[in-house]
Amino acid sequence: MNNFDLKLKECGHYPLTAEDISTLQVNVGYKCNLTCSHCHVEASPDRQEMMSLSTMSRILQLLKENDRIGTVDITGGSPELNPYFKYFVKSCVDLGKKVIVRTNLAIYAEDALQDIPQFLADSRVRIVASLPCYTEEGVDSQRGRGTYRKAIETLKTLNSLGYGREGTGLEIDIMFNPAKADIAPDQKMLENAYKEKLREMHGITFNHLIALSNMPIGRLGKSISPEEQAEYMKKLEENFNPATVENVMCRHLISVSPDGRLFDCDFWQMLDLPVKNGGVRVEDFDYDNLRNREIVTNRLCFMCTAGAGASCSGALTS
Ligand code: SF4
Repeated sequence: MNNFDLKLKECGHYPLTAEDISTLQVNVGYKCNLTCSHCHVEASPDRQEMMSLSTMSRILQLLKENDRIGTVDITGGSPELNPYFKYFVKSCVDLGKKVIVRTNLAIYAEDALQDIPQFLADSRVRIVASLPCYTEEGVDSQRGRGTYRKAIETLKTLNSLGYGREGTGLEIDIMFNPAKADIAPDQKMLENAYKEKLREMHGITFNHLIALSNMPIGRLGKSISPEEQAEYMKKLEENFNPATVENVMCRHLISVSPDGRLFDCDFWQMLDLPVKNGGVRVEDFDYDNLRNREIVTNRLCFMCTAGAGASCSGALTS
């Protein structure tokens, strides 16, 4: 039994099982315009993994058949680089699903993609935009020179379309992650700081900030020494908060890889740890088996349960 399971046992949550599948998180490709230093996907312009139209069609079929899945969370890489991105977004919207698109913002500076912000606004998609700092230096050091300016221009464009503006219903949330292997600071405090700075410096507004700690895998995991890795894991373990376990994201979502395989979360997708039961591919998807599945756990799960907890939707406790 791993250390995480031992902790779960102590607080009466062992084994960790799913509660429902309210969200399907679909990774449509690992290709990205950026090569960020913290990226657990190790996304880059050179990655070739891309979801095919036939896999998307199978996903759309399962979404049609399973109305208990209310939200489709589209991610990558840069999901906009999938040639069928618009088709997939529109099809999910037409099925009546809430759609979230995760973006690095800088991608909309690409000539061929400048129409995407208007498309997202017309489709009334919720945007979750990564911006790991409100300063140019902080962003460019993690994501590459010039990225901050492109992201800021995109945020201004999105604001002009109504995103993050009161009364429009068009939501844009900003996603923060630390520069190094670390636990994210208090989410509300960060949100207030981002709101103040982005408004003062650029007149930009947004809805909420999501603070995500770093998972020490992928590019970040490879960039730190074994000693740093051990120290970070120790810190995560020492900060275990039992109150977060009820809401860890794997209890409410399934992650789909570009080749159509099913995982408990995006992190396990990167580590190639598929779901234990209930079908391992989209074509075998069985809601009732997957809903009660036992979740694959290991020591890295402490990232989700440290402090206020961390997930793709933000802190798990206030
Ligand atoms: S790492 Fe994945 S499986 Fe583990 S608690 Fe977090 S979301 Fe769940």
